[in-house]
Amino acid sequence: MLFVVNANYFSFMEKIQAKLAILADAAKYDVSCSSSGSTRKNKDKGLGDTGSGICHTYTEDGRCVSLLKILMSNICIYDCAYCVTRRSNDIKRTSFSVDEVVDLTMNFYRRNYIEGLFLSSGIMKNADYTMERMVLIAKKLRTEQNFNGYIHLKSIPGASPDLMHAAGLYADRLSMNIEMPTNEGLRLLAPDKKREDMIVPIRQITNEITQYQDERKVLRKVPTFVPAGQSTQVIVGATGETDRDIMKVASAFYDKFKMKRVYYSGYVPISNDNRLPALGSQVPLLRENRLYQADWLQRFYGFTTDELLPETIPFFDSEIDPKLGWALRNMSLFPLDINKADKSLLLRVPGIGLHSINKIIEGRKFGQLTWDHLKKMGIAMNRAKHFITCAGLSEPTRDLTEMQIKGLILAGSSGKFLLHQKQLSIF
Ligand code: SF4
Repeated sequence: MLFVVNANYFSFMEKIQAKLAILADAAKYDVSCSSSGSTRKNKDKGLGDTGSGICHTYTEDGRCVSLLKILMSNICIYDCAYCVTRRSNDIKRTSFSVDEVVDLTMNFYRRNYIEGLFLSSGIMKNADYTMERMVLIAKKLRTEQNFNGYIHLKSIPGASPDLMHAAGLYADRLSMNIEMPTNEGLRLLAPDKKREDMIVPIRQITNEITQYQDERKVLRKVPTFVPAGQSTQVIVGATGETDRDIMKVASAFYDKFKMKRVYYSGYVPISNDNRLPALGSQVPLLRENRLYQADWLQRFYGFTTDELLPETIPFFDSEIDPKLGWALRNMSLFPLDINKADKSLLLRVPGIGLHSINKIIEGRKFGQLTWDHLKKMGIAMNRAKHFITCAGLSEPTRDLTEMQIKGLILAGSSGKFLLHQKQLSIF
């Protein structure tokens, strides 16, 4: 009898492992799973918290691996050309039950494998059928398992307002991938999806977050609602949008919907669908990287998309970062006197980051800052020196053109650059 129980148990575990292999693999293309921004606390002697106990682990190419990141199901009624889970793709299909996901999460958490759950899904029968199950998983984790770890649920386009509301009560973060930056792109590659089915739930959650935050200021007992906010993901390079198109869309989502993060996911060729770029034309990580740099500059340095990418420059320069690109196009604003310039202007200097700017502002209260002071503050002087003056800084490069400055910075030193130029002229 004991043998029978064990045999059943092992066959059950094998099934779960087989499902896990399929559904974790299918989830790897979604990059919008950062667990930052939530402060859910451990309460009632429960398990886990999302405060300092959570550490974020990222793979080399920026994908987050600290969460149990799975699909609930890879069955999908839609046929998005860029997606491995699309209806027409001939792959093995499987689904977890609600209880299987709950058990897996708790087991993995107890073993210290994960800090939380990132749950997405193909659209099974319809949007509500799928979303209802995802909400049930989050609800069971919170109310039956007393799980206070991080939960990120992927919202299903077209899910009803009631389900979206319930999801907001149990999840730390909700995200709805807008996928294609433009409506044309969406019509071409994800013809079953309607932009409105994504925007309506995003708008609802934005409004409810504000409402709950306001109510919590008055009544502490009001529950948290999506405390880590919303995020979205844009696929880069599957259609012909420019970097400027993508950044414009991202800015609108930050402004209108108070998105916590927009993620940029370079299109990974997984299909020979003739609507897509040819296999082998994977978007370089560098393009993704430039978009993330620009995103950061917009959120923390006060740049606008029009400044970073004016209409005449639709793509970022692959050789230099967007901040340096902007500075080189605006040399008339430089050099800035490091001992006098406003913070808003210092933010624009290549080679000087937010942390260093705070040091500069503190330091100059006590006297004139010199080149040595700046170097000790960790400023990248090989970049910054072309755009600043400070006590004791000579100005050997003021008569250089922007191309020359770019070359010097790229080469790292004038000697290397001249050698590089010489070699270029030889070939
Ligand atoms: S709806 Fe989502 S899971 Fe289904 S094919 Fe489209 S992107 Fe893939």
